[in-house]
Amino acid sequence: MRRIIAALILAAAPTTALAEEGLFELTWREVAKGVFVGGREDSLRYPVVANTTIVVGKKGVLVFDGGGYAAQGEQVLAKIRAETKKPVTHLVISHWHGDHHRGAAPIIDAFPDANIIAHEFACAAMMDGPERRVEQGETELDGLYKEIEDAVAAGKWFDGSALSEAEKTYFARMVADYPGYKAQLARMKVMTPTIAPKETMTIDLGKRKATLLYAGLGNTAGDLALYLPKEKVLATGDIVVAPVPYGFGSYPKEWARVIRQLASMPAETIVPGHGAIMTDKSYLGRLAALLEDVAAQAEVGKASTDGSPKFAFDAHEGAFTGDDPVKARLFEMFFKEPIAPAALNEARGALSKNEPLDGEASALCPVD
Ligand SMILES: [Zn+2]
Repeated sequence: MRRIIAALILAAAPTTALAEEGLFELTWREVAKGVFVGGREDSLRYPVVANTTIVVGKKGVLVFDGGGYAAQGEQVLAKIRAETKKPVTHLVISHWHGDHHRGAAPIIDAFPDANIIAHEFACAAMMDGPERRVEQGETELDGLYKEIEDAVAAGKWFDGSALSEAEKTYFARMVADYPGYKAQLARMKVMTPTIAPKETMTIDLGKRKATLLYAGLGNTAGDLALYLPKEKVLATGDIVVAPVPYGFGSYPKEWARVIRQLASMPAETIVPGHGAIMTDKSYLGRLAALLEDVAAQAEVGKASTDGSPKFAFDAHEGAFTGDDPVKARLFEMFFKEPIAPAALNEARGALSKNEPLDGEASALCPVD
C-alpha cells in the first residue's frame, strides 16, 4: 500500500482538453507588485498540482516551481508573456518530486538560456534512483486506478475500512480524472539542472533580490525555499503543504526545525507548496508541533523490536482534518503512513534509507 501511495503522490503529469474541466487550471494572484502565484483552487483534487511563483525583475524573470504537468508549464509561460517582455533567467525547482518540475519544459523551450536551479540533492534525486522508482511506479497506474475504481464500487478502501459518501465522490472523480493525468504523464520531461547549490544563494533579478534558502533536511533532503526580502514573500515548496502535509521519505525532526526557522522570518505572505496562500504563521506552528511529536515518538519507538511501532496522531489530526472524512483519508495516505517509517529511519540515523540514491546518474549534476 505504501508503494502504491508513493507512486501516486510523487507522480507528475497532465493538459489542454482537461484544463477545460479545471484539472490543471491555474488561478493567478499578484501577491506583491510583479510577483504572481498560480495554483489550482481545489488543492485536494488528484493528481495534486503545485503552486507556481513568478517573480518579475528588471533584468529577468525567476520562476519557482514551473509546473509538474506540461499543461501547467504552458499556462505559466502564457502568464509570463502576458505580464512582461523580460526573459526567464531562472527556473528554480523547490525539490525533486515531479509535481514541481516535470512539466516545466515549455518554459525552458521558450527560454533555453535560463538557468535551471535545484539543490544538489534534488538534482541527484531527479537524475537517479528516486525519480526512476517513481517512473517505475507510474507504469503500474492502470492497475492501481482499477483497484481504486473497484474500492469505490465496493464502498471499502484497501485496508477494509468503509468509505464515506464524500470519499466515494472524491475517489470516483480521481478515477474520472485519470485519462487526463495519463495524457500529461506521456508529456513529462525531467530536465537536468544547470546550477545545483549546496547552500543558500541569492539572485539579483534587477531591483529585486531573491534568496533561495536551504535550511537543511526537511520534506526532502534537498528543499529550497524562495524568499523575497523586500516584498516579504516566502514560497516554501513542500516544506509547507496545506491543508494536509505530505510525509514521503521526510525527516520530521529536522523538518520541524526548518519550519520554525522559516516561521521566524519576517514574511507576510507565505506560499505553500500546495494549498491556499497564507498571511499568518499559525499553520506553520501547527505543522512544526505535529512533526516534533512524530520525531519524539520515533525516539521512543526506535529501539522497538517490533518492525513497526505504533505512532499516535490524535493530538494533532483534528487541526488538519477537522471533521472532513476526505481530509482524514488523505492525512492517513499522504502523511501518517509514510511518515512513521521515515521518522524511524531518521531517529536511527539511517537517513540515506529515506530517499536512496543509486549513485551513478547523479554525476550528471553540475558541480557547484
Ligand atoms: Zn508537491
